[in-house]
Amino acid sequence: MDPLYARYPFFEGAREAVREADISPAALIAEDAPAVERATERVERALMEGSVAPEDPSRWDDREKLLSYPIARILVSLIETPAAVEKYATAEAATARERFEDDFAAGDDDIRSTGRRRASLEDVLREFDLSDAVRPERDGPGGETTGRGGRSGSGRGGRGPTHYWVGIGPYLDLADADWGERWRLVNREVADGAVRIPADHLSRLLEAAVERRVAEGLPFEVRGTDGGDAIAGALEGAVSELRGLLDDHDAVDSRRVDTVAPALFPPCMRTLVRRARGDESLSDHAEFSLVSFLVALGMDRGDVTTLLDVDAQSEAGARIETRVEYLAESDGTQYPPPSCATMKGYGTCVDPDERCETISHPLSYYTDALRDAGDVRDWRETAAGGE
Ligand code: SF4
Repeated sequence: MDPLYARYPFFEGAREAVREADISPAALIAEDAPAVERATERVERALMEGSVAPEDPSRWDDREKLLSYPIARILVSLIETPAAVEKYATAEAATARERFEDDFAAGDDDIRSTGRRRASLEDVLREFDLSDAVRPERDGPGGETTGRGGRSGSGRGGRGPTHYWVGIGPYLDLADADWGERWRLVNREVADGAVRIPADHLSRLLEAAVERRVAEGLPFEVRGTDGGDAIAGALEGAVSELRGLLDDHDAVDSRRVDTVAPALFPPCMRTLVRRARGDESLSDHAEFSLVSFLVALGMDRGDVTTLLDVDAQSEAGARIETRVEYLAESDGTQYPPPSCATMKGYGTCVDPDERCETISHPLSYYTDALRDAGDVRDWRETAAGGE
């Protein structure tokens, strides 16, 4: 199996590889194979965090990673909510974009030293039938680019051209008017039937192509099909938990607040803040819970890194800032902080107090505490900017 398919399971070749594998997704589900657990994690992280990357990649081999994809699609279909399909496809695409950019930016030395198979921009363009529609701008000395056969890139790292020309048809097909003014054709340079875009915008177009590919055919009928009822029965527990995560989302919208008073946070969040400030490394889930809670209060990345006392230049600081930006971009409503039930499930509900018995969501705890406290000064207005 091409190891690339473990990272990009939506590639056509990956579908073929699954067909050729000696075991069907239905059989894996029946025996509760590791790929089922990875598939559940895949969907769960998509719904909660907008990423499908495994929390611990070393836990899974390439085959499990690949086979988890068709099982994840079955799970998403069984959730039977359009929001699940949308979030899942968006998360697969966002993760793919990160991987593309990483792969495109990798130099030959990196490939030699890690031995890792990486996708080139040419591989990805070919995959989406865009080879003839995209050409790098000739901006190198003497007009050369890294060109075909080289590792031209559209991602960070600056190894590839800074701009590309994309055929108007594919551009209009993939770009979304909601992405902002810069994406309107009138605001682009257009020549000879092509649109000039910066490299990171080409990445955005490829992300859209992945999202469309992933969403294609979802949801599909599982129950009532041959063997479908047995599959649905075996996945019932996982599906019900995943539905619960979506319910967390619905529960949050009406409770958005914009006053920050750390002393009034619920016990779980106070604990997580204390652990983060003490340089303890938090699990992925704990960090997401905490950051999404803080973003729901209207905190920006500077507020969050100050409150958590993390150095923005450190690895943890950069990761937290990226998380804040991502969550803030989604207006805090697409990936809300988890409910108490979810927190309990992950073991991050710590020292619940009396108020906890009256609420079902950490944000409810906080808004109630804020209301009862009356006139509260926002932590961000304090002169020192600290707790
Ligand atoms: S019950 Fe809810 S708010 Fe209270 S500590 Fe547990 S997760 Fe936090």
